[in-house]
Amino acid sequence: MTQQTEANTETTAKAGAIIIPVTLFEQNCTLIWCEASKKAVVIDPGGDVPKILAAIKQTAVSVEKIWLTHGHIDHVGGAAELRDALKVPIEGPHLSDKFLLDNVVNSGARFGMTGVRDFAPDRWLAEGEQVSIGKLTFEILHCPGHSPGSVVFFSREMRFAHVGDVLFSGSVGRSDIPGGDHDTLIKSIKNKLLPLGDDVGFICGHGPGSSIGQERLTNPFLTGAM
Ligand SMILES: [Zn+2]
Ligand SMILES: [Zn+2]
Repeated sequence: MTQQTEANTETTAKAGAIIIPVTLFEQNCTLIWCEASKKAVVIDPGGDVPKILAAIKQTAVSVEKIWLTHGHIDHVGGAAELRDALKVPIEGPHLSDKFLLDNVVNSGARFGMTGVRDFAPDRWLAEGEQVSIGKLTFEILHCPGHSPGSVVFFSREMRFAHVGDVLFSGSVGRSDIPGGDHDTLIKSIKNKLLPLGDDVGFICGHGPGSSIGQERLTNPFLTGAM
């Protein structure tokens, strides 16, 4: 059900993470925790909330926040329900995705997802802001193109990012859905993600993770092959 990954630095904060695939889109709902405090965050609880709660219990961490990379149904469908269950705040995405969070019920109906709710986060996130969990701090990069309000969570210290649907292993986010724009997406990746450094590893919204260096060298959307 889950895959275990570790992102460690010797001198500073240590983190653990598991991926919990949710919804018919196999979205990578991600549980990340600070090893020192066992305080944790759930990124993109798209649905299947009982499965997410079971994974939290099994991992024995204390979830204090929910973070959202963007407003698409497969990433936010379970957010309101999980917020109620855990009594924790939702942070993100960027305000530009408000139109998506105002239409979660409509979007869900198209895919047979019932029991979802429209909602507002407790905090919108903007470029340059920071969010934290335990001893872990992440910088916010606003990366529009897949959706107007997509954000990336970047830990400079751990050389790790959660990029949502902006960038994938060997691909990039689709831009054919309302609010999407391919040129804007490529600009976001080239101007904000590639400069983070080749050594930065990432988890993305679907499929396996990768690293910035691997994608810079081989991703056909970035090398000019497409
Ligand atoms: Zn998406
Ligand atoms: Zn997605």
